[in-house]
Amino acid sequence: MVVFPYGGERGMCGIVGVIGSAPAAPLLLEALRRLEYRGYDSAGIATLVGGRIERRRAPGKLAALARELERNPLGGTTGIGHTRWATHGEPSERNAHPHVSGGVAVVHNGIIENHLELRAELVAAGHVFETDTDTEVIPQLVAAYRRAGADPVSAARRAVARLQGAFALAMIFEDHEDLMVVARRGSPLAVGYGEAGEVYVGSDALALAPLTERIQYLEEGDFAVLRRGRPAAIFDATGREVQRPVVRTELSGALVGKGNYRHFMQKEIHEQPVVVGDTLRTFFDPATHRIVLPDLPFDPLAVPRLAAVACGTAAYAGLVGRYWFERLARLPVD
Ligand code: GLU
Repeated sequence: MVVFPYGGERGMCGIVGVIGSAPAAPLLLEALRRLEYRGYDSAGIATLVGGRIERRRAPGKLAALARELERNPLGGTTGIGHTRWATHGEPSERNAHPHVSGGVAVVHNGIIENHLELRAELVAAGHVFETDTDTEVIPQLVAAYRRAGADPVSAARRAVARLQGAFALAMIFEDHEDLMVVARRGSPLAVGYGEAGEVYVGSDALALAPLTERIQYLEEGDFAVLRRGRPAAIFDATGREVQRPVVRTELSGALVGKGNYRHFMQKEIHEQPVVVGDTLRTFFDPATHRIVLPDLPFDPLAVPRLAAVACGTAAYAGLVGRYWFERLARLPVD
């Protein structure tokens, strides 16, 4: 079976990150505001200040985090931010991301399915956990590999290889102002490039819209090493270094607020033509005016039937897909 994990990003909340030269915290807070439409229950930001990880977190709306940042400003030009939709552990400051352990800070969207086994293994090795989240196994694992002598990137790579589940994550490391590691499995993640060498990360291009137009979408299973002023080093699920196209997005910052609409749903209804256009552009090469479909690991003509698995709006999209596949390709779809 081949699974196409497209869609379903709502409810996965938000990740943002920057390796920059301007103060990171205000920029990350603004970027998180552009992901507010996804819904969340708490939020947090971590930056590197003089090589040390510092963080501010708050339950509730971003306004609460903004107040916390006013009371206790956060310096630094490299950082990560998160809006959380709790799946493991109540929404609280203690469970809010970023989670920090042994000199690594992590933000994570999604679920680590094997967190209980990993936690048991780490606890047996003497690790002390501070939160009820599934996420905390990630910094703890990275810290364990670091302590065993691995450099930050190999420690992160080894930790990510042990995770099961659907997730997107970003991490920064003490004493490494110029480094961020990100990974995507089942949950989208985009890398953006600024004019002065800044590198950005966001759950979608909307989060990055006012910061840059040059966006690179990570693909399923990608692991990427980001450094200032350089293209990301991206590795696919097999560990092979790969190139992902850098595209220009036409999303503008104005698209992100509620605009003149009364609520986000009304806005979404009116945005459909633009969004469908942007989606199709993923498969359209403007240079050659050709449709470029993803490389499929099988012969599409040999597929006997399709199954679409989805809920909510994606389930309706699946029904429309069934209609077209059955009608045009004469392929049965469940
Ligand atoms: N599973 C993680 C938690 O509960 C992340 C949830 C999210 O996607 O925001 O903390």
